[in-house]
Amino acid sequence: MSSELSRNATDFIDDGQINGLLERSKTDPARVREIIAKSLAKEPLHLEETAALLNADQPDLVEEIFEAARELKRKVYGNRIVLFAPLYLGNKCVNDCRYCAFRRSNPEQVRRTLNFEEIKEQVVALENKGHKRLILVFGEHREYSPEYMAQCVRTVYETKVGHGEIRRVNINAAPLDHEGFKTIKAAGIGTYQIFQETYHHETYAKMHPKGTMKSDFMWRLDSLSRAFESGCDDMGVGALFGLYDWRFEVMGLVAHALHLQGKYGVGPHTISFPRLRPASGVNMEWPYCVSDYDFKRLVAILRLSVPYTGMILTAREQPELRREIMAFGVSQIDAGSRVELGGYTEFGDSQVLDREQFSLGDIRSLDETMHELIEDGYIPSFCTACYRLGRTGENFMEYAIPGFIEQFCTPNALSTLTEYLVDYASPETREAGLRAVDRGLAEIPDGARKRDIISRLNRIKETDDRDLYY
Ligand code: SAM
Ligand code: SF4
Repeated sequence: MSSELSRNATDFIDDGQINGLLERSKTDPARVREIIAKSLAKEPLHLEETAALLNADQPDLVEEIFEAARELKRKVYGNRIVLFAPLYLGNKCVNDCRYCAFRRSNPEQVRRTLNFEEIKEQVVALENKGHKRLILVFGEHREYSPEYMAQCVRTVYETKVGHGEIRRVNINAAPLDHEGFKTIKAAGIGTYQIFQETYHHETYAKMHPKGTMKSDFMWRLDSLSRAFESGCDDMGVGALFGLYDWRFEVMGLVAHALHLQGKYGVGPHTISFPRLRPASGVNMEWPYCVSDYDFKRLVAILRLSVPYTGMILTAREQPELRREIMAFGVSQIDAGSRVELGGYTEFGDSQVLDREQFSLGDIRSLDETMHELIEDGYIPSFCTACYRLGRTGENFMEYAIPGFIEQFCTPNALSTLTEYLVDYASPETREAGLRAVDRGLAEIPDGARKRDIISRLNRIKETDDRDLYY
């Protein structure tokens, strides 16, 4: 592997500057309201403005921040929620991250890498539940080379059963060099997701012991820049909340988004905010654990800070909290998730701690989650159109182009939801879902587009036609 950094490589995380901003930023209500107004106009915030929101801890101001995030969700992003599932393919790992059950010094973890037959079995199980979008997850190990990961991606795309197929494969894995990213891109991946874990240098060094691959802060920080330069223009950033002060991590995430936007003209497609969960063999004290209240604050503030970035809320969180936070501008969630190797066929409904990276907070089925989303007024979507039509990177303007959501996202959400309802849903979810589709249709103005959408939905209901997207 080459150790060449990106052409714009620079450590853009200045701990002193971030701390200074967090200490100095004013929190008077008038200033906070000004910043909120800027967010509601979909303008990205400066770091100083994010710091001011992070410092606003008076309960009434926090409530205003929550309400602003809800309003943005309602008015700008609409009521679609995209669903996906993680697929863990290998948990061998050369690193020793203090928080992770896959770390090499954990003897309790049962090590395994799925072979291609086993991958197909997992994919069939996921397709039979109705999934269309997966994220493949790997430890960091010489066996998990870019060529190997590319082969896994191709295997997933090739595996089809009935109307089931995976239409978008994302990856969460170790940072690659330029060649590695090119190899992965050629296999047709969607998003390449890499979490910085913590943007705080000293904590990063504590969590990732010297001498391990992951101990190189800069190699990781620069990784999505290399991805972009290699043609992977669809990037996912994230921080693992609970390793250090959550305010600092929010600043780091926003700085990362601003860096990518500034240098490449394209911000991250998604931002993830996983919170530390119990994991086998991880018995440390975690002084920076984030309370539910602060977690809600950080999600709302991220929403207000990075208007063009999708937000992913994972099944690490409990169902009730997910339900509440969804309204803060979350655009994607995983559902029916299992994080054991082989978890979609082998362990029934229970979690097996020594076979997974961490324990999940929400292990409800996809159907149950779909039903709740529908009852709460959302349109669950499995849309994959933008990525397949090349609407990514600079061309990806989902939230920026007026009318884009009405023209593309809503119809595609309605057709992928209808596919799910016809092919996979329980009778109760189907009934509630078809009513929701009708409500969604009623909001579309009459005209040629609407007639075309109705005709497509009827084809899905009455024939084997599938995958009809704009
Ligand atoms: N090995 C690759 C890497 O480190 O980038 C893939 C990532 S790992 C399999 C997926 C993510 O899970 C990590 O980036 C980390 O943020 C998160 N994670 C690890 N341990 C966790 C824990 N105990 N609780 C919650 N999330 C955890
Ligand atoms: Fe390995 Fe990733 Fe876990 Fe670290 S977080 S031990 S790199 S799987």
